[in-house]
Amino acid sequence: MIHDVAVLGGGIAGATAALRLAQAGLEPAWIAPTRGDGFKPGEHLSAAALPLLKALGSDAILRSEVHRHAHGTYSAWGSDTLVERNAIVQLEGPPTVLDRGAFEDALTTQAITSGAQRIDQTVTEVVVQEDRWRIETLGGAIAARFVFDATGRKALVASRYATRFQADKLACQYALFAAPDAESARPVTLIEAEERGWWYMSLLADGQAVLNFYTDTDLPCFETSDLETQARGTTAIATYLADYGYRMSSRPTRIATNSTWIAPAIGAGWAAIGDAAAAYDPLSSHGMTTALWSAMTAADAYIARSRRKMQDYADNVARGVQDYLSARSAVYARETRWPDSPFWARRRANLHAGLAPAAAG
Ligand SMILES: Cc1cc2nc3c(=O)[nH]c(=O)nc-3n(C[C@H](O)[C@H](O)[C@H](O)COP(=O)(O)OP(=O)(O)OC[C@H]3O[C@@H](n4cnc5c(N)ncnc54)[C@H](O)[C@@H]3O)c2cc1C
Repeated sequence: MIHDVAVLGGGIAGATAALRLAQAGLEPAWIAPTRGDGFKPGEHLSAAALPLLKALGSDAILRSEVHRHAHGTYSAWGSDTLVERNAIVQLEGPPTVLDRGAFEDALTTQAITSGAQRIDQTVTEVVVQEDRWRIETLGGAIAARFVFDATGRKALVASRYATRFQADKLACQYALFAAPDAESARPVTLIEAEERGWWYMSLLADGQAVLNFYTDTDLPCFETSDLETQARGTTAIATYLADYGYRMSSRPTRIATNSTWIAPAIGAGWAAIGDAAAAYDPLSSHGMTTALWSAMTAADAYIARSRRKMQDYADNVARGVQDYLSARSAVYARETRWPDSPFWARRRANLHAGLAPAAAG
């Protein structure tokens, strides 16, 4: 059997594309391995995602108590002073701090009930055979005429058939924290810059706190196992952890968060969506919204069988990358306290690395 269309990857982009295609009456083969039980970082959903979720018929997902509105975000960025960015003054409304696993599970359920055929397999190889793709999995091969690559930063198909660019080597070390008296903890998100990079901490709806530290992989840094001790050396975040008695409760883990993108984001018989097309610095809080937008836009172009719309999609991804790079430069340029720090100096040097093709991140 040859499927008209397959979606590779089970994250937000994959689930959204599978859902959108299924809503249009198509039956995409959706190759998406089951998500593990572990915590998946990336929980700050921008309010810009709301209209997209509404268009998908998925906005009810956010009404669950496992997510919370992010009314208070404070950052010490450019000075030691903690500055509040209160959601009340944001016209588009407050962001949401997600239970990321629950959010992805709800999208997955919606895609399956809408008609997407989920295949719980990992893709081991993808090859072109005449007018179709042969997608190898341990459970057997699947043939499809068109493929959406939603495999995240791996960009299984896109990185092979187009050029991959990389602007930095940012990575994140993260862990969950728990406190005996978590109910009294203030629901805040804190961002704190330091000489080696920057810290992020956010209270989740269930009272756990997620703590992230970001720096470049090629710069000297502490061992991941030392994350809690290092967090105790911060200012605002350390105070918050101490005030409520937060202790690290999960194994600290490291994950790539570098800015990478594929150009062009489409090719003959394929389109890259989500992080596979363009993966952003988590400081932007844009990754999940971009995953939703890119999956919907590319799926709509496919549904309309419109080459022009597909080309428009690729052009918009490229424009989005340029806008993102400018915004990223401006935000990092606001931090000038450590002129000799390579982490900050290379960001002030305006991303020339991003203009050249680079090894996959
Ligand atoms: C530490 C961290 C913090 C972040 N914080 C935020 C934030 O606050 N706000 C925000 O908006 N964004 C944030 N992001 C970014 C956001 O998580 C991503 O942009 C988003 O997950 C992209 O969704 P995706 O579906 O494209 O990719 P992914 O979520 O990476 O999903 C890719 C999927 O492909 C599957 N896959 C990979 N290889 C294969 C294969 N061979 N076969 C089959 N399936 C495969 C994986 O299992 C996975 O399910 C953060 C990211 C990180 C890492």
